[in-house]
Amino acid sequence: MLDVNIVGGGVIGLSIAYELAHQGLSVAVFDRQQFGQEASWAGAGMLPPADIQAAATPGLQLRAASRLMWPEWSNRLKEESGVDNGFVNCGGFHVALSEEMPGWQDYVSEWRQAGVVLEEYEPRLLQEQAPFLSPEIQSAFYLPEMSQVRNPRHLKALLLACAKQGVQFHPGTPIIGFEQKGARVTGVRTSTEIHRAGRTVIAGGAWSPEVLSQLGIGCDLVPIQGQIVLLSMTRLPFHQVIECGSRYLVPRSDGRILIGSTESNVGFNKQNTAEGVGGLIQFAESVVPCLKKATFERAWAGLRPKSIDGLPYLGHVAGYENLLMAAGHYRDGLQLSPITAKLMRQLICEEEIELSLEPFACSRGIRDCEER
Ligand SMILES: Cc1cc2nc3c(=O)[nH]c(=O)nc-3n(C[C@H](O)[C@H](O)[C@H](O)COP(=O)(O)OP(=O)(O)OC[C@H]3O[C@@H](n4cnc5c(N)ncnc54)[C@H](O)[C@@H]3O)c2cc1C
Repeated sequence: MLDVNIVGGGVIGLSIAYELAHQGLSVAVFDRQQFGQEASWAGAGMLPPADIQAAATPGLQLRAASRLMWPEWSNRLKEESGVDNGFVNCGGFHVALSEEMPGWQDYVSEWRQAGVVLEEYEPRLLQEQAPFLSPEIQSAFYLPEMSQVRNPRHLKALLLACAKQGVQFHPGTPIIGFEQKGARVTGVRTSTEIHRAGRTVIAGGAWSPEVLSQLGIGCDLVPIQGQIVLLSMTRLPFHQVIECGSRYLVPRSDGRILIGSTESNVGFNKQNTAEGVGGLIQFAESVVPCLKKATFERAWAGLRPKSIDGLPYLGHVAGYENLLMAAGHYRDGLQLSPITAKLMRQLICEEEIELSLEPFACSRGIRDCEER
């Protein structure tokens, strides 16, 4: 019997497997398809800065603790897997189009209060500092500590590093039920067999409610669709992330530019729409006009797992001695994956837990099916 079964092999499930295997635990990861093909692949890989001293809310504390871990995680993964995940401190602009102007000063103050290093640009200096930006943009600030990761490469690095640590992989293996003895989940059921382990972690992203429903448990977590458009240019006009409200441009070192993202509650639908793709391209051109000349490569959509309040569910599922959950990371799952893995390790290995898990308790969104 293994120590831990993990249901779901996105960035959250794989990061937990990596952390546990390093601690000497025997781990199996199950995914209904190939690993890391859902939200974790679809995401843009932005890793915004956050300051651990000034972080005033549980969400900011989690973000800051995770952000601190990224450089070392990336180095370790590279050493162990031979894959460079493309983690880079690229800097980032936040800019305001006319619709963002009301409330802009409050927005700047929020970033300042969060203790993040920030350089505000006067409008007349903006064109000098960032000539690629549209002259329509009147307000902007720069975050020198904004980073990004190439998430598909990061997933590849995690898979290789986990394999080296002896993690057992079960791709193409949906979990369709559980074996239970009283308050213990003793194994996960596939279509052909039962795999037993001392603990089970649900890391099924947007599909976590479906997985938990097999135990008669209801969970407030919904898929929020996000579309992304990929352009490319032979010479990148800018190298920094550019954010504007909930939309953004992320330049990759090989000349590709991701434009994200839409936000729609349309169930488990991953179709791109003309409105979504057209709107993103229009947005990109309004911020960086020379992108009119860029080549359209492709578009895709992914499903962000959104909890009841936008914070992840981390910890034990009430009523079960050995069932845990790590899901609901919404827009920040890549950013939060190292700290999620560390906290789950601390919990499972009964170590001191470095952040209070109370604000992330599963009880916020978990109920018996009968209560619905
Ligand atoms: C467009 C977009 C842009 C984003 N940009 C960013 C960003 O810039 N920065 C950031 O930090 N985050 C970003 N995110 C959010 C981030 O991608 C997610 O929060 C994160 O990927 C969630 O990871 P996960 O492992 O929980 O879920 P997923 O990656 O969705 O993985 C869940 C896995 O569970 C598997 N599964 C489901 N049901 C079963 C079953 N019954 N049995 C076995 N396996 C099962 C699925 O196949 C899947 O592989 C973005 C997301 C989107 C969609």
